[in-house]
Amino acid sequence: MKSPSPPCELKQHLQELFFKIWQTLWDNGNTGRSFHKMLKTVHIKPVFWTREEIMFVAGHGPFPSFLNRLHLSDSDSCACGEVGDPIHYVTSCPLNFSWHIRKPSTSLDNLWFQRVLENLNLRKRIINMIKIHNRQ
Ligand SMILES: [Zn+2]
Repeated sequence: MKSPSPPCELKQHLQELFFKIWQTLWDNGNTGRSFHKMLKTVHIKPVFWTREEIMFVAGHGPFPSFLNRLHLSDSDSCACGEVGDPIHYVTSCPLNFSWHIRKPSTSLDNLWFQRVLENLNLRKRIINMIKIHNRQ
């Protein structure tokens, strides 16, 4: 078979097509939506997050909201009475006051996630908060 363009061009075209399809699937998918807030664009470079950062973004871990979702707990409430999800612990729980980060407005939720995980100090604060929460 004779190609009208050189193999490297064909390879690049196929790669662009692959990324375009992958991006469409990622944008319109039903799973991984919490990660979609952070990682809008697909790429093959690995993302180096710690276990705690993954737990924070996914909402998975020893959080009452997650344990309740898995029917491992009767309540999704934190000891303070509010819904015990990672955002609550990081932004508003009076029991974690020293680890608080300013709460996002609902319209800027996605941007807040991106900014927080781009900021090394805030990432360390989240990691420490989740490590302390895991010990309890
Ligand atoms: Zn609380």
